[in-house]
Amino acid sequence: MVHTVGWPLSSDTYGGSFIYHLEDNQVAVGFVVGLDYTNPHLSPFEEFQRFKTHPKIRPTFEGGRRIAYGARALSEGGIQSIPKLTFPGGLLVGDTAGFLNVPKIKGTHTAMKSGIAAAEAVSALLASDAGGALEASDYRARLEASWLWDELARVRNIRPSFRWGLWGGIAYAGLDTYLLRGKAPWTMHHHADHEGLRKASEAPRIEYPKPDGSISFDRLSSVFLSSTIHEEDQPVHLRIVDERVPVTVNLAEFDAPEQRYCPAGVYEIVHDGDVDEPRLQINAQNCVHCKTCDIKDPSQNITWVTPEGGGGPNYPNM
Ligand SMILES: Cc1cc2nc3c(=O)[nH]c(=O)nc-3n(C[C@H](O)[C@H](O)[C@H](O)COP(=O)(O)OP(=O)(O)OC[C@H]3O[C@@H](n4cnc5c(N)ncnc54)[C@H](O)[C@@H]3O)c2cc1C
Ligand code: SF4
Repeated sequence: MVHTVGWPLSSDTYGGSFIYHLEDNQVAVGFVVGLDYTNPHLSPFEEFQRFKTHPKIRPTFEGGRRIAYGARALSEGGIQSIPKLTFPGGLLVGDTAGFLNVPKIKGTHTAMKSGIAAAEAVSALLASDAGGALEASDYRARLEASWLWDELARVRNIRPSFRWGLWGGIAYAGLDTYLLRGKAPWTMHHHADHEGLRKASEAPRIEYPKPDGSISFDRLSSVFLSSTIHEEDQPVHLRIVDERVPVTVNLAEFDAPEQRYCPAGVYEIVHDGDVDEPRLQINAQNCVHCKTCDIKDPSQNITWVTPEGGGGPNYPNM
């Protein structure tokens, strides 16, 4: 198991990698990029490809074969971002509620614990005199009394401290973890990821190397390995609120960052035929359901809705 931070990201961008060696000579490799990155020219997918070319990492993949690909957004808000957890007839568990331990990128244990607390809250409700009530309102109190709340509270300031860059974040994380033991009397807050982008003209361009087809790859051949099969004639599940904004704002000011942050190449600025007018083309059938566009679009003009059927990515070994 290997975890890294930083390279090839610049020190003002949060992120790092994981490499897990599995059975039968298989390797799971992934690269996390904080969606509060500020350079609109950055492509998380291309950063991942570059990561694999590092001299210490490359040998792990030489002679290997890709067998699967996927992408998703992590719920990074932590305990200070947890929403109301119950509503009539339902409640939120796991990552949906934001129970990921962000510095560790671990959330299966908290997902299970919240599922247990949810089941206990619902069964107590059903067994009580208030059995007709629809909302298991004491679910949150049950969680607050458990190790889950304590664990998330202790790590709550680690991710926000990376606002001071890689080295500032590492220094703070060491102080918070080893000296303060997660009991700092303050709580740092977050900002919306889509607000962080600088104008394209103010940010350095990033030239990514072409994929070599053995260690680094292109997006479309990667999407093929996610087993995503959407019916081509279903309604587009990526809803654009104002059809003008992708060109008048996103392209004009940010060089259409959706062309780069989407890990599936769904968004393309095209110029049709003789007409030189640019327009945004949405290849919705390629979407791997990561939800990045809903989060990172600088104008908040894209809304991801559930597509028809079960045609999204299918990760058989995950
Ligand atoms: C790259 C990466 C590495 C990770 N590594 C670790 C690790 O090593 N250890 C660890 O503990 N945690 C790890 N995590 C975190 C862990 O995966 C999550 O915290 C955990 O899976 C959350 O479980 P969940 O049941 O809440 O959500 P999920 O596992 O995301 O399950 C939600 C399910 O709902 C389905 N779904 C979504 N929408 C619909 C719909 N409309 N209709 C029907 N079904 C739907 C999804 O397909 C999915 O199967 C990692 C996460 C990532 C992204
Ligand atoms: S369209 Fe949006 S949700 Fe789908 S893969 Fe691209 S960024 Fe992710």
